[in-house]
Amino acid sequence: MIVVLAKDISPHDTEIVRSYLRDHGFNVRDQIFGDAALLGAAGKGQADIHELALLPGVERVAATSKQYELASRETQSEDSIVSIGPVKIGGARISVIAGPCAVESREQIEDTAAQVRESGAVMLRGGAYKPRTSPYAFQGLGMKGLEYMKAAGELYNMPIVTEVVSPELAEQMRELTDMFQIGARNMQNFELLKKVGSLGRPVLLKRGPSATIEEWLLSAEYLLAAGTRNVVLCERGIRTFETYTRNTLDISAIPVVKALSHLPIIVDPSHAVGIRAKVAPAALAAIAAGADGLTVEVHPNPDTALSDGPQSLYPYQFERLMRDIEALSHVVGKELLRTPRVNIPVGAIVGSSAPQASPQKIAFSGESGAYAEQALIRAFGEDADKLQTESFGAVFDAVLDGRAAFGVVPLENSLAGSIHENYDLFMQYPDIAIVGEIKLRIVHCLIASEKATMESIKVVRSHPQGFAQCREFLDKHPDWRLEAWNNTASAVLSISKETDADKQLSISAIASEAAAKAHGLAVLKAGIETDPRNYTRFVILSRKDGDLAQVPPSMGQLTPDKASLIFSVKDEPGSLYECLKILSEEGVNLSKLESRPLLGQPWNYLFYVDVSIPKSGDVFDNALSKLKSKTGTFHFLGCYHASL
Ligand code: PEP
Ligand code: MN
Repeated sequence: MIVVLAKDISPHDTEIVRSYLRDHGFNVRDQIFGDAALLGAAGKGQADIHELALLPGVERVAATSKQYELASRETQSEDSIVSIGPVKIGGARISVIAGPCAVESREQIEDTAAQVRESGAVMLRGGAYKPRTSPYAFQGLGMKGLEYMKAAGELYNMPIVTEVVSPELAEQMRELTDMFQIGARNMQNFELLKKVGSLGRPVLLKRGPSATIEEWLLSAEYLLAAGTRNVVLCERGIRTFETYTRNTLDISAIPVVKALSHLPIIVDPSHAVGIRAKVAPAALAAIAAGADGLTVEVHPNPDTALSDGPQSLYPYQFERLMRDIEALSHVVGKELLRTPRVNIPVGAIVGSSAPQASPQKIAFSGESGAYAEQALIRAFGEDADKLQTESFGAVFDAVLDGRAAFGVVPLENSLAGSIHENYDLFMQYPDIAIVGEIKLRIVHCLIASEKATMESIKVVRSHPQGFAQCREFLDKHPDWRLEAWNNTASAVLSISKETDADKQLSISAIASEAAAKAHGLAVLKAGIETDPRNYTRFVILSRKDGDLAQVPPSMGQLTPDKASLIFSVKDEPGSLYECLKILSEEGVNLSKLESRPLLGQPWNYLFYVDVSIPKSGDVFDNALSKLKSKTGTFHFLGCYHASL
């Protein structure tokens, strides 16, 4: 039951409503939904709705708006994020689970784990108890299989998810299982749901082949009502008249569920289509439609698989799919989740004996809602301990003096080019290195106060990059005055700080939707960037400790495959050619080369260079030392794992 409170209800009256609900046997939660304050009442309580509606300050009582209450977005407007060890599902990340249909042997599950891990899967799947359509088909290895899978998961630091088929087995499986899967055939096995929901483990709830979305959410409600808060939904295809594919993937279920529920939803393209060649397109469609992740069947040798071989990907196909997902994730404004390959104690930093900043703060420049804050959340998660600073230089300072363990700054934008200020800072702070990168799709909005209109606007404030990236839109409004601001989010903040109501109507800002939300303002127009393929590459910086820089735990142990350098060349014929020749001869691939005038030395140039690091580290070290001897200024900014 949902109780909608009047906007002007006093704290005293709110408490009376709360006590009324508690006295009638409900568990009460305070909720904000849109701009309304609500009280969510769950549990077995009973109350007279009419009496409740008459209490002072109660605007409306929604008794059965949805039969599922705990799973409903009306009860919780923010997305739920489900944690399974180091893995999180939901929010701005895409989490990929992979593994065989069934555990067949210790070797098979370890081999699969190694290969899917290498491609970027963060959890291992596999059935030990298989609900097969035919009683004569392979039924799984049972507890032995679960032991093999748990061991493989531990070896590669991957939590495991496995199907539980009966309430009797659930307790026994609990110790060896990081996440329980409720299979499609058991979605409405209510006794199983009640038992599994009470065991304190996260649950992956598959949609039944003939279940409506409403029925599916009601099954999720069973799990939530039994005590767990950690439920992830999984669309795996439904039964339709179409027989070409094993099932029909209900893509539209993703946005529908997202609107109805706060629970994360992932997609199983393997069981949905049942045909190997169709798995990758279905998987990509799911990500494009807003899924929070995937669970994919992969087998080291699908031709000999004991179950679902025809729909299992070869490891090389999975690897290719992961690359496509990584590229697509930025388009939908998400980041492919990576976790360390070995278990790192919380807060520890790989490769460093430097004194650790405690607590581990991460610095960015700007107000809440800044794009850099979004990049920070992508890299370090929603719970990251953020340190807000006023300039890019202040981010470098905070990392250098240990107030922050990491910093996040933009380095280049796909439309407006390099951010020279930050390249300059890297040269001024030789003890700071790049240790990671994050690419963020930038969707700019024109933001103003609630009552402002396009006609009332006279001034636009933003960072100069914001203006550069929205050039075409601004050209249509030549009478607007542009005011450069330190960063996009502080431009937004300046509107909410304006006290003169008339003046406020005339000011707007170009920034993210998150910034509008953070400062309680309205979006007048979204997507005003000149080209929607507008990405900013943010880098994560950290202090160098000797030659090693700290690596963020979220990116820990990913092999560095990219490096950034800045150098100048001697003013003589062929000097740049000489440098590039070294890279070419040593087999080092150049992915960026940009020149820029050297400050104070007209007609001399600095070069910004990004290179791929060859697999053999020696080759790279050789190339660098040869290069150093040919260059004037030489700065090594760091090596890190490239984001696609
Ligand atoms: C599985 O994931 O192994 C499985 C049996 O899937 P479903 O329950 O969706 O058929
Ligand atoms: Mn299967």
